[in-house]
Amino acid sequence: MDIKGFIESSLLEWEGKIASVLFLPGCNLRCRYCHAADLVLRSEELETIPPDVVLSRLRRQVGWLDGVVITGGEPTLFGDELLALIRDVRRVPLQVMVETNGTRPECVQRLMEDGLVEAIAMDLKAPLGPEDYARVAGTGVHVEDVRRSLDLIKRSGLSYELRITLVPGLVGWQEVQRMLPDLEGARQVALQNFKPELCLDARLRTLAPFAPEELDAFQKAVSQVAERCVVRGRTCAGAASSRAR
Ligand code: SF4
Repeated sequence: MDIKGFIESSLLEWEGKIASVLFLPGCNLRCRYCHAADLVLRSEELETIPPDVVLSRLRRQVGWLDGVVITGGEPTLFGDELLALIRDVRRVPLQVMVETNGTRPECVQRLMEDGLVEAIAMDLKAPLGPEDYARVAGTGVHVEDVRRSLDLIKRSGLSYELRITLVPGLVGWQEVQRMLPDLEGARQVALQNFKPELCLDARLRTLAPFAPEELDAFQKAVSQVAERCVVRGRTCAGAASSRAR
């Protein structure tokens, strides 16, 4: 398995922790707002970092680094290779968080059953219906797999975060309202404001992100069903001052 990106330390990816971030290539989705086009579409053009190099750099950071976030692309596509990489990271020793789109519940289950992760972050792209999901994910998605991952994560007892990217005209007020039943009882939901720059779908690049007062309304709605709801990207450049929902 190729590692295609490595951030030595970040305070942003794992809330409350100083973490390294590893990027794995490839994804089975083509989300219209995706910013990882290089990883998703042309990862062969990116430099490969050998796992031994990453592991030795991690060993040098033990003592002040809390953990490692493994993201992509979609890391669960690597199955057993991902599990082996995580075991190597845990032997460093460091804690692990995996970020996933939830389309590989069998891998999510293994991560939990084998005690390989301290935390999981899972994207929810849209209300859990095939048409809604395909509209956002840019490809057909077996939404029952996403639902299975969601149920596994909510029941896991692990620290977790469900992430929703808000996109005007794509994932807005109506969609969030329809997602609320699936967010019921969630420990943490992160609402991420859409960033137009570098979107996979060029037609989204001229859209204004949601304005702060709109984000407040989303947060209020989600807070009524989830234990905690955080908002990221309140200050996105070009946010509309107001928008009819
Ligand atoms: S799940 Fe979507 S946003 Fe995430 S890497 Fe894949 S295409 Fe990009």
